[in-house]
Amino acid sequence: MMEGATGPEPPAPPECPDCGLSAERHVTYYGTHVLLEPDMPVPAHTVPVWHRWYVDSNGTAWNSREDEPAPGAVCRVPHRIACPGLSPEETGLWRWPAAVRAENARRACDKAAGKTGPAALPDAG
Ligand SMILES: [Zn+2]
Repeated sequence: MMEGATGPEPPAPPECPDCGLSAERHVTYYGTHVLLEPDMPVPAHTVPVWHRWYVDSNGTAWNSREDEPAPGAVCRVPHRIACPGLSPEETGLWRWPAAVRAENARRACDKAAGKTGPAALPDAG
């Protein structure tokens, strides 16, 4: 549920219950189904955690949860975050800009403290 694998189960058609659009349905390793946006691979680092999906060669989809993507990795996004039938609150994506703002606030703090970036080590005194 946290990953959004709440797609319609077969034999129901792979259509979004909220907007009626068809999407690409994949089974997950825990047996539920997820609707992924068809033909839309995106750079994984631009997708918020919990919304990064990958499809194995056997057609099974899995969510990388909070793991950082490998450099250059490409993932799939669930239809749910692109659904025109849901409000931002319903997609859960309202957390995305909030998380980006929080990260930027942290970076601004680091910058003000004279750190140069993510590689900067904490001041050990
Ligand atoms: Zn939809």
